[in-house]
Amino acid sequence: MIEDWSRVYSAISDLRKSGVVDIDAWFDSHPHAIAEFRALHSFVEANDAVIELFEAGTKAAFFDRARQLLPADRTSNIAVYRAMLEGRDACQGERTLVTFSGKKVPIVWRCSLPDHVDGYRQLCFYAFDVTEQKKYNDRMQTMRAEMARSARVSLFGEVAASILHEISQPLSATRTSADAALRWLGHAPPNIDEVAESVRDAARWARDATEICRRMRGFLGKVPARSVLTRAYDAVDAALFLISPEASSKGVNIERHVERSLCVFADPVQIQQVLANLLLNGIYAIDENDGAQRNLSISAKLADANEALFEVQDTGTGMNAHTLESLFEPFFTTKANGMGMGLVVARSIVESHGGRIWVESTPQVGTRFSFTLPVSDNR
Ligand code: ADP
Repeated sequence: MIEDWSRVYSAISDLRKSGVVDIDAWFDSHPHAIAEFRALHSFVEANDAVIELFEAGTKAAFFDRARQLLPADRTSNIAVYRAMLEGRDACQGERTLVTFSGKKVPIVWRCSLPDHVDGYRQLCFYAFDVTEQKKYNDRMQTMRAEMARSARVSLFGEVAASILHEISQPLSATRTSADAALRWLGHAPPNIDEVAESVRDAARWARDATEICRRMRGFLGKVPARSVLTRAYDAVDAALFLISPEASSKGVNIERHVERSLCVFADPVQIQQVLANLLLNGIYAIDENDGAQRNLSISAKLADANEALFEVQDTGTGMNAHTLESLFEPFFTTKANGMGMGLVVARSIVESHGGRIWVESTPQVGTRFSFTLPVSDNR
């Protein structure tokens, strides 16, 4: 589309002469100027794509309503004014157009800025309809959020739910048998045979619960791994993809330092779970801390010939001595909605791969989780 901005050019030149350098501040203190400036320009020509974009039918119909169809848009207009004031040779921006039928069309636009007033008599704007890209981005955002949620649910939820499910039955049976024993004891005279029978039952149910716990520990210690040569960079990338919506919604900056050629012998999905879990913990710790720094960093490098070292470091709340002692214990959490299983699972995954995990932390300063993984299957 071609527009005549020559009068706008003069107005901006006047502003520059009067000493205005910060155009945003100037428009802040002159709120009516946006509409006044918009009235200074006129439409010169529009190609078929413009008529189609606005669903105008004919060029005449478009020009009839062009002013209403393209009203002043503060962000978009100021982008051009700012570029003109600063003497730049091009500018670009985004806005949403409303067509004849009321449909909203997001566009990105660009225009080259001439350096003399004559050029402004025919200023060319190029616009691209980005509806599809926007839809795609929205879909990606939703997918990421869902993946992050489902990864966490499977990480914390399934393990905890199955433990609770399996041990709740023998526990309640233990209690029923103990209650029965008390009732037989309360009889006058007490029925010692029944008491003995109920106590034996209670002991058997308690043994069952212990056995289930033992099996569960075994299961957690030997999470079946599908170890393959995995690029550390890809695992980190996948974990960052999962947690990035959480990081951006909490304003956390993420830095990554991962050796591109580094490969580990590990189950890629499990390593990604460990990383995502450590990163999420870091984000929450940063969010709880009042400190000005909101930095999370993740690194992976070769520690020696056999091992890769991963580190996740945050500028969060840090941990006190009690938390440091207990954080790898099942169900230990300091969060209102925490499950306290994330680090248990992380440790069992790392150890089942033949690695080690440890933590260093300073209250109010931050925390660093480190873990190792073998770089080949010769362990
Ligand atoms: P959850 O996140 O459900 O609490 P985790 O096992 O992942 O379970 O973490 C257990 C506890 O360890 C957390 O509640 C928190 O107190 C502490 N913790 C874990 N990571 C960090 C961290 N990066 N900074 C401070 N505290 C942490």
